[in-house]
Amino acid sequence: MAHQHGITRRDFIRWAVAAPIAASTLESFLPKLAGALQDAIKEYPIIWLQASTCSGCSVSVINTIHPSIKNVILEQVLPGHQLKLMYHGTLMAAAGELSLQAAREAAEKYRGKYVLVVEGAIPTKQNGIFGSLGEKEGKAISMLMWLDQLGRDAMATLAVGTCAAYGGLSAASPNPSGSKGVTDVYKMLNIATPVINIPGCPPHPDWFIGTVAKILLYGMPQPKELDDNGRLKLFYGRSIHSRCIYRDYLDLGIFASNFGQEGCLMELGCKGPFTNADCPVRLWNGSVNWCINAGGPCIGCTEPGFPDAHSPIYQRR
Ligand code: SF4
Ligand code: SF4
Repeated sequence: MAHQHGITRRDFIRWAVAAPIAASTLESFLPKLAGALQDAIKEYPIIWLQASTCSGCSVSVINTIHPSIKNVILEQVLPGHQLKLMYHGTLMAAAGELSLQAAREAAEKYRGKYVLVVEGAIPTKQNGIFGSLGEKEGKAISMLMWLDQLGRDAMATLAVGTCAAYGGLSAASPNPSGSKGVTDVYKMLNIATPVINIPGCPPHPDWFIGTVAKILLYGMPQPKELDDNGRLKLFYGRSIHSRCIYRDYLDLGIFASNFGQEGCLMELGCKGPFTNADCPVRLWNGSVNWCINAGGPCIGCTEPGFPDAHSPIYQRR
């Protein structure tokens, strides 16, 4: 059935699961998706908190192609449009205390109605002094304090990237800052706001845009739509290995023992059998290529425990 924005649930799911879709359908679908997102985003202010991050997740997400980030978010900040990306420390023109004031005001104005996007893990040791944003009366305001306030008052939280979802690189051993992912921090702080994880190092832009689109068009996911690690099954429902282009090599017992050699990459440490994501069918960089097709083993970047549980990265587990 077509929604008022003209997108059928079937078309959306086919796009989301990167299923083969006729070029003519895609051509009419993508502008509709961009338009629907613009309409829908008017109802949902976004506050984007960058914690302990390299900013790679932001860079990946703003490289979205279908629809472009301009369609999705940036056009909302043109004069005459209601500002909906209320705060993003890297993307917004304002800086320093002025930008942080925007985050505070948005959280106050849209209490209970905004989506909090968190990028990066959150340092928790020693009351979170290892990561701060701004200060109050001469004292640093920790990222932990920001998350406590912004997370508690949000309608939902999207943990973008493996650091925000599970701790990731920021929480790698020995983790002196006690960095943790959002779900663990919410447990620690008794925050009940629902969290959807969008892991990846970095996450594919479609995983972020698709998750946002799903929430805006059809509401929060039902528990059965998420896997045990809080990810949408639409994007993370199957292992890399299950759809890998090198499965034939594996079945024939042909393994690469050096980079550049023909064969399945298992001996070079490929974590595809233990990693869930749709990279083999979605591809990266505008559908140009992906890790294994470029000769690089999957390093399991979407999984809890990455990178420690997958180290040494280039050795067979
Ligand atoms: S390259 Fe990795 S994902 Fe592909 S078949 Fe071999 S082990 Fe599986
Ligand atoms: S193939 Fe593996 S390492 Fe590469 S982006 Fe996908 S999940 Fe991450």
